[in-house]
Amino acid sequence: MKKLSMDDRLLVNRFDSDDHNSHILVDKDACRTCEHRACTTCCPAERYKWDLINDKLSFDHVGCLECGNCRLICERLNRNMPGYSWNYPGQGMGIVYREG
Ligand code: SF4
Ligand code: SF4
Repeated sequence: MKKLSMDDRLLVNRFDSDDHNSHILVDKDACRTCEHRACTTCCPAERYKWDLINDKLSFDHVGCLECGNCRLICERLNRNMPGYSWNYPGQGMGIVYREG
């Protein structure tokens, strides 16, 4: 059986994404000083990746499952530090689960 990529698995759901307004904000430059970069391993949708070439975080809110893991594990998101914030998508936006 073919192993599905994360993007293929996410396509099972439906997203009404607000492409221009991310509900999660991270300061990717400031993230260079993060000692654990735990967001890159805690996100079930693999929205956070460390770009080794540019030594910089990449983040895409489209596909977010709104689980809240990153908010819990990242102290900057958790404390709403400057450049960081976590909110649910605006009303009617975000994920629409079709399975599970
Ligand atoms: S855990 Fe938070 S501060 Fe660290 S890299 Fe991820 S978003 Fe940036
Ligand atoms: S809320 Fe969950 S799915 Fe969304 S970016 Fe954070 S860890 Fe990933």
